[in-house]
Amino acid sequence: MSEIDILISEVGPRDGLQSIEAIMPTEAKKAWVAAEAAAGIREIEVGSFVPPKLLPQMADTAEIVAYARTLPGLTVAALVPNLKGAENAIKAGAHKISLPLSVSETHSKANLRKSHEQVLDEVRAIVELLNSLPANQRPGFEGSLSTAFGCTLEGPVPETKVTELARKLIEAGCDEVGLSDTTGMANPRQLRRLIRLVRSEVGDDKLTGVHLHNTRGLGLANILAALDEGITTVDSSLGGLGGCPYAPGASGNIVTEDLAFMLDSMGLRTGIDLGKLLEVRAIVTDALPDEAMYGFTPDAGLPKGYVSGWGIGK
Ligand code: ZN
Repeated sequence: MSEIDILISEVGPRDGLQSIEAIMPTEAKKAWVAAEAAAGIREIEVGSFVPPKLLPQMADTAEIVAYARTLPGLTVAALVPNLKGAENAIKAGAHKISLPLSVSETHSKANLRKSHEQVLDEVRAIVELLNSLPANQRPGFEGSLSTAFGCTLEGPVPETKVTELARKLIEAGCDEVGLSDTTGMANPRQLRRLIRLVRSEVGDDKLTGVHLHNTRGLGLANILAALDEGITTVDSSLGGLGGCPYAPGASGNIVTEDLAFMLDSMGLRTGIDLGKLLEVRAIVTDALPDEAMYGFTPDAGLPKGYVSGWGIGK
């Protein structure tokens, strides 16, 4: 397998699907995940281990994880809200689990019905469980700092709160923390500052990934700022599926196709075959004909004579 410079972590099957009503059939989810893996995507967050009663869309996550594990070279990630979710993710065989901790405590209480301390208690319980497993069965564990750049309920979120919670997550035993612009409020300068501040608090190797949104059109600009700071993993969603609940008509997540095109055209290796990636969208639109799909590259297509890093130094 060839080396890559930047890892695009596809979150559509989790982040995209969790915010839409129509249930995507399990077989279509499998076809989607398989097609993206075949296009060279190396990591996919395939679902969330939440109670099916709360989120029927995610009821088949264990089956999707088990299936995705059979795809060669793919890192299978899943979201877990608590210890119970982590137990199920481990049972299903996820390679990587992440737990969201909302920096805005108001948002945390509204969405997870938990205070920061209660979420950190879950983290500690999960770490205890992980430590009881043989090393080769232990998934990676990321604490994801959501609403890190601003909150729809609280407004601005203090940087000191982000760094404090990053430190607490690492102290509780997370392998890594991630920065998440859940509400699409980040700007490039803020991103640079926050990455530096968090890294100086927990160490460069403990913050390697960001989850950014495109709610106000700053998604790719923010990605570039993150890459300039040395971030190597960026999340995105095929077709920006799911949209943004706060801004109708806008994609929520970064669009995978546009992101992959930007990085590839800059000559950065992602491992992705752009032509194959652009074909994956049909699987999603066939299964979910009423859902809006976003992105510019899928409409415009690849430029004539396109090659990776094209035009650079010519
Ligand atoms: Zn998202």
